[in-house]
Amino acid sequence: DPRLQAISQAIRVVPHFPKPGIMFQDITTLLLDHKAFKDTVDIFVDRYRDMGISVVAGVEARGFMFGPSIALAIGAKFVPLRKPRKLPGEVISEEYVLEYGTDCLEMHVGAVQPGERALVIDDLVATGGTLSAAISLLGAEVVECACVIGLPEVKGGRDRVVFEVGGFPSRLV
Ligand code: IMP
Repeated sequence: DPRLQAISQAIRVVPHFPKPGIMFQDITTLLLDHKAFKDTVDIFVDRYRDMGISVVAGVEARGFMFGPSIALAIGAKFVPLRKPRKLPGEVISEEYVLEYGTDCLEMHVGAVQPGERALVIDDLVATGGTLSAAISLLGAEVVECACVIGLPEVKGGRDRVVFEVGGFPSRLV
């Protein structure tokens, strides 16, 4: 796909952020480039348009930057999966393990009905721990998870199909 190179080039890599040794993939520069931003959303929309998806769930915070545009274009609702204590209503929570410690995602009760077909969106997949927590939390049929960036060098328990725009289309890891 000829669009991928420009998308990839629009993503800035910031060394040693947020701590020494981390090469941070920064998608805010992609959002500044209208064509690359639109192409990114279009690639997702083309892939998911006719898959009977009624829910797009975005992972806080960078999943919120792509998810709603995709949801509107494919005729689905958008559900934010948030960090703890952000949502005002009754929530269900899913804790997950990070390299150091744990984190948690929350969703409003009733946002998704059992049996709905869902797509999970985030900016980046590394180990897949965050996406796995999102899948458990949703309690819906998750058709696929999709990210802009995949970090292929990260070793971990990724065992789901993850579609990565800037990486390798639909591979099982
Ligand atoms: P995983 O759970 O190991 O797959 O890590 C993915 C999560 O960490 C996603 O929610 C990402 O937003 C975040 N993340 C990890 N590294 C980066 C990065 O370099 N840039 C942006 N987000 C990152």
